[in-house]
Amino acid sequence: MIGLVLSLLVTQTPLQTYSDAFIQQSRRTDPQMSYTVTVRSADRSAYFVELRITNPPSPARLVIPNWAPGAYRLMDSGQNIAAFTASTTTGDTVPVTRDSDISWVVDTRGAASIVVRYSAGLRDPVPWRRPNNRWFLRATSGMIDGPRTYMYLDGWKLAPAHVTFRLPAGWRIATGLVATTDSTTYWAPSYDVLIDSPVLVGHFLDYRFSAGGRPHRAVVDLGGVRPHAAREFVDMVRRVSETAIGIFGSAPYKDYTYIFVAGRGGGLEHLNSTTIGVTEDVLARRPSGAESVSAHEFFHTWNVKRIRPVELGPFDYEHPVRTLNLWLSEGVTDYYTEVILARSGLNSVADFTRRMGDAIANHRGNAARLVVSPERSSWTTWDSPEVNNSYTISYYLQGQLLGFLLDLAIRDSTDNAKSLDDVMRYLFDHYAGERGFTSDELRAAIRTAAGPDFQDFWRRYVSGTTEIPWDDFVKTAGWSVRFVEQSAVDARISSITPAVQGGRWRAVAIPGSAAAAAGLVTGDELVRINGRDIVDGSDVSAVVRGVAAGRPVTIQVVRGGQPVTIRFTAGSYGQMRAVLADLPEVTDRMRRIRASLVTGH
Ligand SMILES: [Zn+2]
Repeated sequence: MIGLVLSLLVTQTPLQTYSDAFIQQSRRTDPQMSYTVTVRSADRSAYFVELRITNPPSPARLVIPNWAPGAYRLMDSGQNIAAFTASTTTGDTVPVTRDSDISWVVDTRGAASIVVRYSAGLRDPVPWRRPNNRWFLRATSGMIDGPRTYMYLDGWKLAPAHVTFRLPAGWRIATGLVATTDSTTYWAPSYDVLIDSPVLVGHFLDYRFSAGGRPHRAVVDLGGVRPHAAREFVDMVRRVSETAIGIFGSAPYKDYTYIFVAGRGGGLEHLNSTTIGVTEDVLARRPSGAESVSAHEFFHTWNVKRIRPVELGPFDYEHPVRTLNLWLSEGVTDYYTEVILARSGLNSVADFTRRMGDAIANHRGNAARLVVSPERSSWTTWDSPEVNNSYTISYYLQGQLLGFLLDLAIRDSTDNAKSLDDVMRYLFDHYAGERGFTSDELRAAIRTAAGPDFQDFWRRYVSGTTEIPWDDFVKTAGWSVRFVEQSAVDARISSITPAVQGGRWRAVAIPGSAAAAAGLVTGDELVRINGRDIVDGSDVSAVVRGVAAGRPVTIQVVRGGQPVTIRFTAGSYGQMRAVLADLPEVTDRMRRIRASLVTGH
């Protein structure tokens, strides 16, 4: 009875900002969230989650996010949840209704605390056990993906949370979450931070190093394989870290955790950690193969995790969130990947020049550059390529080149006194708080930090699709771009991510390619190419690379629910190549700008 009176008298006000979450975390009437994630020794079919909520609102609506920050597509995540129940702490079950595919409403009946239980895992056991950089569970290890594992209490995403891991004997934990005095329990200041902190559990290698005066950890899940190049591996990660920190002057976190898994994936950025899936061969023997993805994900620590478009947070996890600026968040991060590798000495200046030349060639060789602007490709990332008449161009590529152009133009107009580094530092100083930047603020930031007004540049190359006059820009550093067409094998097939989680990767039929002429249609779901099962895009590029001229190619796809087979013979086409060549006369100023760009000094 007393409990009931109290809950009527004390009103709960949902937290509005991140600082509320910090200031008010001890208010006793707010919901207190405590998760327990269990890996059962005898049942690895899912993670078993228990969520204890003290002072729950009634009704309490629990939601599993439908997308994850950094991976801009819907996950159809409700299908991964099973056996949802809710009870009071004394064990009495309370009514639950499901009000959408991703949300459950608990009638708490005025209980002072409730316990919600569910299992979270892919229903298909084969992908569930397959190691990758996002979410899996197998005999020796597992990765816990926050957005697909932890439900949030609607209205209370900014409330702090504890999470405890109950694991098989001998399993260890690696995560960016804040440790507590209990080695199995961690703390997060808000739900956003909780799910932005993936957790590797199980058996893994553990390396520690210092960069920028802060502790860094690199854990490697090699599935029991022996590392043959551990020293080179740690040296690579340390150099990447030191160089990126050097661009900004200091690290914006207390500690950082790199999580590497020998398996599939790629990388995903998080607040003070990253998860990277690369092949066992790279991790065990050839760490240079992980340089680019490590530099890219680590640079995100600033660009996107802190310097972010205003739309990207606080997050709405139920609906797609669109922004015009993924070219900056992802593509300029790709430009800085090249800059970091050059400045750290992991790549030579010649490597930098060659790789930028390759990017220019990829851009010039893609007809979509004159159709889909960088802002447009950012905005339509959630959509089928059909919204752009099946023209596809990556905002990673577009943004990498825009970063290069901006850097060159700023250095040119300021006689190398300023550079894109100044813009990134300015953005970090002004937009790393609770609110991100708008497109107008981004343009204003460039003008304030670097001097020139980029209004025309924006209209032509960011919002528009004007052909880039390369020589006008690269001459600043003593280069000109030489385009040449080389005969190459035409088994060209591009691919894009599945429309839904667990779905098949989709084909992109490149205009003018032999595959398109033979009937491949953009959006076809890829099943098999030349007998190889297509699990993800890396299978597509591997099989395409292996086809010789004149050899048959067989593509099995699903189109409109029906199996379709496309056959053609690999022909040849004029592949665009581009070389950044020295101008006949490279002046001292050009030399100075080039040296500064690749050394940072
Ligand atoms: Zn990225």
